[in-house]
Amino acid sequence: MDCVFCKIINGDIPSYTLYEDDIVKVFLDINPNSNGHLLIVPKKHIKDFDDMDNETLLHIMDTAHKMKTLVETKLNPQGVIFTQNNGCVQEVKHYHLHLIPVYDNKTKMDVKEVYEILKK
Ligand code: 5GP
Ligand code: ZN
Repeated sequence: MDCVFCKIINGDIPSYTLYEDDIVKVFLDINPNSNGHLLIVPKKHIKDFDDMDNETLLHIMDTAHKMKTLVETKLNPQGVIFTQNNGCVQEVKHYHLHLIPVYDNKTKMDVKEVYEILKK
């Protein structure tokens, strides 16, 4: 299947991976809205909200809590947005939950620099 997130999950495309287990992989967005913008992605190819099952969703939410704590501890954002796009606004047709930190100070770092702070 020609799915960019399946390729990242399989290791065919590199990513700045922050966390992974049997069910999910978490990596930094390549074109972030803000420092620490990350994606929580099920390893199973689930297309979108309608195809998501409760068990996987619960695990995604547990992971979201952990990642929110990580980002808040290391990057000190003033807020955090979670979004999940469907239909014409979903660019990659493999379910993913965006975690987008919000800052008063909008100075952008490059993704590698953010990765090094979060992995410390
Ligand atoms: P969507 O509109 O589908 O919710 O958002 C897809 C997101 O995936 C975008 O924010 C985009 O920057 C990100 N993205 C697309 N291709 C890649 C990739 O190859 N690597 C990473 N890390 N992120 C990607
Ligand atoms: Zn996929």
